Amino acid sequence: MDYFPIFLDLRGAPCLVVGGGEVALRKVRLLLAAGARLTVVAPDVVPELAALVEEGACAHLCQPFADALVSGQRLVVAATNLREVNHTVSEAAQTAGIPVNVVDDPALSTYITPAIIDRSPLVIAVSTGGGVPVLARLVRARLESLIPAGFGRLARFAARFRDVVKARFADVEARRMFWESVLEGPLAEDVMAGNEQRAETAFLERLASASDRPEGAVYLVGAGPGNPDLLTFRALRLMQQSDVVLYDRLVAPELLELVRRDAERIDVGKARAKHTLPQEDINALMVRLAQEGKRVLRLKGGDPFTFGRGGEEIETLAAHRIPFEVVPGITSASGAAAYAGIPLTHRDHAQSVVFVTGHRKDGVLDLDWPALTRPGQTVVVYMGLAMAAELCEAFVTHGKPATTPAAVVEWATTERQRTVTGTLATLPGLIARHGVASPALIIVGEVVGLAEKLAWYRPAADDA
Ligand code: SAH
Repeated sequence: MDYFPIFLDLRGAPCLVVGGGEVALRKVRLLLAAGARLTVVAPDVVPELAALVEEGACAHLCQPFADALVSGQRLVVAATNLREVNHTVSEAAQTAGIPVNVVDDPALSTYITPAIIDRSPLVIAVSTGGGVPVLARLVRARLESLIPAGFGRLARFAARFRDVVKARFADVEARRMFWESVLEGPLAEDVMAGNEQRAETAFLERLASASDRPEGAVYLVGAGPGNPDLLTFRALRLMQQSDVVLYDRLVAPELLELVRRDAERIDVGKARAKHTLPQEDINALMVRLAQEGKRVLRLKGGDPFTFGRGGEEIETLAAHRIPFEVVPGITSASGAAAYAGIPLTHRDHAQSVVFVTGHRKDGVLDLDWPALTRPGQTVVVYMGLAMAAELCEAFVTHGKPATTPAAVVEWATTERQRTVTGTLATLPGLIARHGVASPALIIVGEVVGLAEKLAWYRPAADDA
């Protein structure tokens, strides 16, 4: 973090703006909106600024800048178009230990002004560290469209009840959950729509009946194949509401970034053959956390019900009567197929698709070969990389032509995605040659031949 964001209370605080042009005017308006006691110093001011001075909104010193003017100021802004002057202002302020911003010049500034979304008392500040103000403005534009204008009203409504709610819930968690349920529900819609009276009645009823102890729950959420854009809205919302997250090795760091900042994170990662936590311990941990009243996010790669042991995890929860919810995710086979340009079914090439997992029993691959080698079918193998050679060979032994197209997709949908295509005969050699590593999926079938034409996603890593 290059800059530390804070919100300053400037009500009644003496602040100085140096400059009298359009840029200065913008800063003046902003500081006045925050209630600053403002002095503008400039030999000349634009008419709108003169009008503000006239109204008594701020004072005007009609003179060039002098170092002594910074003394006693809480904040100083240099907004002249003379670099020389801006420099002098910056130095004077810094010598006096006063935060100073030189407009559009981060090097001379000790603080920068963010792009602001104002739904007072809700205020959102966006910054790119002064480097790319245009990007900050783009983000602001998006947030503006995302956050209903009524949010300001909602924030004021909630602020009115802050103390009552605080007194009602001794437990911080219970209080937070109460607020979340209020701010996300129909009551909030009422407030934003202006039906404050009705909302207030509902609010007070709710406050009276709310439970003192937070009720725990577990959300079994599919995080998709790795690209954060492929999360569902539901997944994202639960990620931002949970108190503790239990995640797997397959869940990318970019995804964890989206989990609520202060949520506790527990890595229960399961690398093949290196179980960090045995499944029973994970189940027991979820039960314990939920019984403590926590909202537990069990975040899994891909889809929780596709080779994710999601079923086993919720069986335990059901047995303990813990409320739970399952959120589907894009399974890696779908992600890999889409991002590698391999349609899993196709009128001309594949009328069915089978997802299997490479599985050994007594040292040999234990799969239903007659079913897997049917013509007109695509087979996707999860967790099969380590036994790719055996797999490809078995396909051939059980009757698939050695020329059947086959591919391996590594880190599908992410910036690290690589696709290697060949045939059942050549794939194992190609995997070794390119050093393909987990996570990877093997796809076998005529449809793999389409990748050459249909692949559209070209991340840097894919030089294979
Ligand atoms: N529930 C997950 C699968 C878990 S099993 C899902 O629905 O996708 C773990 C296996 O999934 C890995 O061994 C690998 O075969 C596959 N996998 C998961 N993410 C992947 C990715 N981004 N690219 C390729 N394969 C992936």
